[in-house]
Amino acid sequence: MEQRIAEHRKALAQREDAAALALAQEFATIADTVEAELAKLTAAISTASDAATPTWLYRQALYKKLMLGARAAYLEYGRQAARTIEGGYAAALDYGLRDAGELLTLAGLDPKPLGKRAKDGLLVGMRRRLRKLALPTSLVQLATKAISGGLIKAVKARAADSPIEPAGLVKKIREGLGSILVNVMRAQRTESTTAYRSVVGAQLAATAQVVGWQWAAELDKRPAPCAVCVAMHGQVFAADAPFGAHPGCRCLAIPVIEGVGPAIPARRRCVAG
Ligand SMILES: [Zn+2]
Repeated sequence: MEQRIAEHRKALAQREDAAALALAQEFATIADTVEAELAKLTAAISTASDAATPTWLYRQALYKKLMLGARAAYLEYGRQAARTIEGGYAAALDYGLRDAGELLTLAGLDPKPLGKRAKDGLLVGMRRRLRKLALPTSLVQLATKAISGGLIKAVKARAADSPIEPAGLVKKIREGLGSILVNVMRAQRTESTTAYRSVVGAQLAATAQVVGWQWAAELDKRPAPCAVCVAMHGQVFAADAPFGAHPGCRCLAIPVIEGVGPAIPARRRCVAG
């Protein structure tokens, strides 16, 4: 059972990687455009030297153009990411249902697959989660913070004996913009895994002989899962108990069948604790 779970997890990660690659490429394209504008502005800041104050910065046409362009680009990027994530929900639910059925069959049961209505209900719930994430606006906020925040901080910190070095400033802002990609990647992975886990959980809860589920962390992963997940590994929950995972968590559920001991032996729990 544990081995099947590891295979399911691997397939889940591969499906996520394909979508993540497209999002990472688009991110790089936007970053190039933004950085080209940013390079012009940082050169102007460097030339203006002592005259470059935050007020001066806000008045620059280059600054306005940069900020407008970046807001539009990251807003659209957020919409694209949300569409990608939403598109992935249905697939994650299908795979989750298939994998849960496989685990139950492996346990010797003859599970009755969840109906379309139950699946549609899960899909509605996932879409609600996605709206709450508000990716487009949150990405614009991150972009504004990285670009405008970085520029203003640099202008304020500028001293006569240490002028602004354009390449260094662009590099710093580029690092700040990296948080956008980190957020998108994390959201994409979390949403895909959550959709998958939600349907697995629903299928387990709907199967009479399932008395609970066992938390299965990816123990052999490097870097290792967080300490909380390692400690959770092997713990048994009621069949209808929700999976209280954190963002980016890759842990999955193993069914615990009536009259059969949990798949993950107790000794692991002793090691973890
Ligand atoms: Zn975890």
